[in-house]
Amino acid sequence: MSDRLVWPRDRNGCYSVKSGYHWLHSVNAVRHSNIPSSSTTVDSDCWKLMWKTNVPPKIKTFLWRALRNAIATFGNLFRRKCARTPLCPLCNCYHETAEHMLLLCPWVETVWFGSPLSLRIDKGSISTLDVWLCNTFSNIGTEQNDGDGIKSLVCFLCWHIWKERCKAVMEQCSPSPQDTIQRASNAANEFLSFKERRQGNRSPRPQILVHNLAWSPPLSPLVKLNVDAAWDPISKSVGIGMVVRDHDGQFLAGKSLLAQADSALMAECLACLEGCRFASDRGDQWVSFESDCLEAVKSINGDISRGKWEIYPILSNIRDFLVAFRSCSWTWIRRTANEAADHLAELAKLRMCNEVWADTPPSSLTFILNKDGLPCPPTNV
Ligand SMILES: [Zn+2]
Repeated sequence: MSDRLVWPRDRNGCYSVKSGYHWLHSVNAVRHSNIPSSSTTVDSDCWKLMWKTNVPPKIKTFLWRALRNAIATFGNLFRRKCARTPLCPLCNCYHETAEHMLLLCPWVETVWFGSPLSLRIDKGSISTLDVWLCNTFSNIGTEQNDGDGIKSLVCFLCWHIWKERCKAVMEQCSPSPQDTIQRASNAANEFLSFKERRQGNRSPRPQILVHNLAWSPPLSPLVKLNVDAAWDPISKSVGIGMVVRDHDGQFLAGKSLLAQADSALMAECLACLEGCRFASDRGDQWVSFESDCLEAVKSINGDISRGKWEIYPILSNIRDFLVAFRSCSWTWIRRTANEAADHLAELAKLRMCNEVWADTPPSSLTFILNKDGLPCPPTNV
């Protein structure tokens, strides 16, 4: 496509006076970096989002302190001469900052990805906690089913990561990602149900952490096309998997292929693009697309010029495909509902080649197709 001017200080690449102002401000802040750390500038939007979230006051207070760099991380304790080292006590590799503790420490990655949010922490793109929080919240948005519940869960996860980290440091044991996810999910569910009951909403809360856990067939005459990507940050190679099924859950086709991508998000968007191409090549006219990457789906459904500028060309390509279908939609689903596509993505990485399955799935996929609770044709072993 033709070149496009991009202002890299704004995620959508468009210059605004506001982003220019903030950039100048941050440059000046670095220049005068001998100022005390308590004067960290946090965007006012971030404060608004944070105070509005539906979580107990103790969690809001914790996040406020984390954003003000006022929690007892080893980085802060070392600066105040209360600790012998600024290194993270759990991984011993990096300075323990709020960002490291909540987002970047290796054990925490498992928590975010294993949680019902299936959030991939893109280490390269994380600058500060407030920017990450703002981006994550704006990706969740309000149109997302139960967006408020998901935002609450993000905050509950932060709080329980902190609690688990403190327990691990005090009791000198290893932190447990599984327990952290469980405790945060339970606490979020309990708190939100209680709030709803108090507001007089008697019906039980079905949402947040349980729905969309399993794959479901589309309505006739739609076919459902699931896509997923498996990205390797070192080689930058990405395995892409696609599975097409009909309203009876019958396997119609599958494809796995290899590509290259600079980031996990780019990999997921490439998978979406390949999904469109696959459906178009097959001549499908009524398609329900599903991906487990929230940001990719949000970008495709929203104003693409407001998405990340790095993925604009891919999104623009996807849009070109979408107008050709008679009916199509993009939906975000949980990772557990996308296992078939995930399997083919891993297969592409493993076999290092592109493959297409018409009618009959690879034998290794049969188990997942059956697990989705649906009939499956005999396999070509
Ligand atoms: Zn660490």
